[in-house]
Amino acid sequence: MKSKEIICIVCPNGCYLEIEKKGDEYVVRGNKCPRGKIYGVKELTNPTRVVTTTVKIKDGKLKMLPVKTRDPIPKNKISACMRAVDKIEVKPPISVGDVLVQNIAGTHVDLIASRSV
Ligand code: SF4
Repeated sequence: MKSKEIICIVCPNGCYLEIEKKGDEYVVRGNKCPRGKIYGVKELTNPTRVVTTTVKIKDGKLKMLPVKTRDPIPKNKISACMRAVDKIEVKPPISVGDVLVQNIAGTHVDLIASRSV
């Protein structure tokens, strides 16, 4: 397999990673720490992201509430997650960390409030 080059986004160092599959193993070069190797292999095998966005607030002083997925979700589920988020309207009071949607878009990850209103 040809090697793949990506930037590690785990910390601000932004190491330039080169990942190559050799047999059943992945070889990662350019990482300054072990987290870069984990990130590089995951990016090739099952890339995930924490989704951060906003939802509408009904009858509140603020119009929008910042929200995020509690854990990273597969990248190929982000569009489905955003379509589900578009339909949500929440009503205060809401506390930071409250679960707004369980198992959003079938990801087994909850959508939670990022602030209290
Ligand atoms: S490899 Fe380690 S040091 Fe480099 S960006 Fe990733 S987490 Fe940061």
